[in-house]
Amino acid sequence: MSRRIFYSIFIVSSVVMILVMAMGLWGMYSHFTEEQFEQLRNETQLVRQGLTMSGSEFFDNLRTTNFRITWITRDGRILYDSDADSQQMANHLEREEIREALETGYGESQRFSSTLSAKQLYTAQLMDDGTVIRLSVTQSSISQLSRRLLLPVLSTLAVLFFLSLILAGSLSSKILKPINALDPDNPFADPELMAYPEIRPLLQKLEDQHQQIRKDHEELERSSLIRQEFTANASHELKTPLHVISGYAELIESGMARPEDIPGFAAKISSEAHRMTKLVEDTIGLSALDGGGDDMKRVPADLYSIAQNAADALQTEADMKGITLDVAGEPAVLSGVPEVLHGIVYNLCENAIKYSPENSRVSVLVRNMPDQVSLTVSDEGIGIAQEDISRIFERFYRVDKSHSKEVGGTGLGLSIVKHAARLHNAEIRVNSTPGKGSEFIILFPKDGSSPE
Ligand code: ADP
Repeated sequence: MSRRIFYSIFIVSSVVMILVMAMGLWGMYSHFTEEQFEQLRNETQLVRQGLTMSGSEFFDNLRTTNFRITWITRDGRILYDSDADSQQMANHLEREEIREALETGYGESQRFSSTLSAKQLYTAQLMDDGTVIRLSVTQSSISQLSRRLLLPVLSTLAVLFFLSLILAGSLSSKILKPINALDPDNPFADPELMAYPEIRPLLQKLEDQHQQIRKDHEELERSSLIRQEFTANASHELKTPLHVISGYAELIESGMARPEDIPGFAAKISSEAHRMTKLVEDTIGLSALDGGGDDMKRVPADLYSIAQNAADALQTEADMKGITLDVAGEPAVLSGVPEVLHGIVYNLCENAIKYSPENSRVSVLVRNMPDQVSLTVSDEGIGIAQEDISRIFERFYRVDKSHSKEVGGTGLGLSIVKHAARLHNAEIRVNSTPGKGSEFIILFPKDGSSPE
């Protein structure tokens, strides 16, 4: 870039200098021509006076001058010529300056003389006796002029080229200075740069991009940390049931287990295997939602019938604890992903049953509002302390780990609910009183759009 700017300035300044030089030469040439004409005019008047006073004798005493003198009759014949044989010369009546002199008394012209192979300046003066006296001189040509001026012109050009080299060098480094001084990592670090309004948008753009990169980087670090934590937690969660399973299996295999213990051991193995399956299923469900669910198809879905289906699927669990599980409300259609909506109701109801005492009640209510659909799952269970409410949606967070395990929890249920709600731009509210019960309310926008 620096090289390009340098050459551009150098070429432009050189062209300008050459043009100025050429114009100067042309000016000088015009000036010299005018000077020559002026001399010719003066000389013509002198010759006129001499001829008037002395007649043709004037030419006898005439010493050669720089000028050629020709004396012509009214009808164009040559009476005298200082440089050529007048007898040999053609009639001059048609010459421009002669015609003009005969018409107006005085004439001038300049033209190329093939006899002398040079440009000639002519003046012609009508005499009182009707003859015409003409003076001419060879005009200095541009090339003559240039030849005479060659040395000064060349030396001036050399100096000017040298100057334009220095100028181009200093200008290009001056132009590039702010760009070179720019620190792309910290665009606003140099206050001097702010003095250039042309650079400010670039600085702003750089700064914006930096901020975006920083944000993306932080986001990436955060999600990589979450993933790491998740992997560590998931492996840990899987390891525990595996240890239990392999422990009981080894006891049976080694023959150390008594026959009457085997049904109990088998039940333990089955329940731990069931827990592992649930954990794997929840992990798969969560990772599908983690992707943002862009590939999931949204359709008009009736949350009321979805809630009824989910409650039906959990009826056995509720019955086992003597819990009354009822679904109330009205049909309420919203734009959503039916299986994901089912997952929300199922997880909330499953938790309500898990964390409620026997013979209590779990209620599901679906309400159809103008722009929203609400889902409320309430129970008369153990409740959640205020300080835990903000954390229960974290992966693997459990208020009481051993209780959660006892009731078959994976620690991922509410995480799935949170992601599933986010996919529908839904809002989650939790009201809970320890020892009294909990209420989970999810507010879905009907069209699935995000609130402004
Ligand atoms: P888990 O599989 O352990 O139930 P969740 O993510 O579904 O995991 O829930 C996280 C924790 O929140 C649970 O371990 C439990 O302590 C608490 N929790 C969730 N739902 C309820 C509820 N209805 N009543 C009381 N505590 C609950």
